[in-house]
Amino acid sequence: MQFHLISIFPDIFSSYLNESILKRAQDKKIIRCQIHNLRDWTNDKHKTVDDAPYSGGAGMLMKIEPLYRALSDIKELNKEIRPAKRKIVLLSAGGKKWNQSLARQYSKLEELILICGRYEGVDARIKKFIDAEISVGDYVLTGGELPALTLIDSIARLLPGVLGNSDSLLEESHALAGIAEYPQYTRPEIFMAGGKKYAVPKVLLSGDHRKVKEWRNSRQKKIKN
Ligand code: SAM
Repeated sequence: MQFHLISIFPDIFSSYLNESILKRAQDKKIIRCQIHNLRDWTNDKHKTVDDAPYSGGAGMLMKIEPLYRALSDIKELNKEIRPAKRKIVLLSAGGKKWNQSLARQYSKLEELILICGRYEGVDARIKKFIDAEISVGDYVLTGGELPALTLIDSIARLLPGVLGNSDSLLEESHALAGIAEYPQYTRPEIFMAGGKKYAVPKVLLSGDHRKVKEWRNSRQKKIKN
């Protein structure tokens, strides 16, 4: 799957994308991440990407022309991809809330183009050229770069071959909507702190697979939002 990130801070992404599972997914060519500096689509000396909003208001807005040009050029890079297999997303605090079910839907795409806003946001005419506005939660961040990485991460780990053990996907939180994973423990069997003992539940040491499964099922809980 091909991801494109459009940002005015392109250096933000590399340390996250070039570690651990996402790095291996790129090495194995399961995903490809292309980072685009929006300023490359400006045509003035100062590489201007923002301007003041009409009728006033706090802060600056990202201009429509560089974004439109960037989208047009990026779509041309993989012309063979059918429109149904590509989505263009604006990260936006007011967008549709991202969740595991959307991550699953998006994991069927071949290409995802992510526009990272900055300043007070983006000229609203961008809505005519995108497929969705996505929010990662009910709070406001300074930019769309972390949300874009959130989408890439949550989608990539669903793609075949990305996780070492794909069974992780079957039992983890949100595999069943609204249900959190059961608690898990590792060594030591008894952990001492502040004069108190914190023991691993005995059933997990029993080796009785049926009982362990029953215990785990009983410990899965509804996620409260
Ligand atoms: N004025 C905007 C508003 O009231 O919705 C907030 C702009 S925010 C400071 C700058 C950029 O960060 C946004 O254009 C968006 O791309 C990104 N952003 C901020 N919070 C976000 C969130 N919760 N989910 C997705 N993107 C977000």
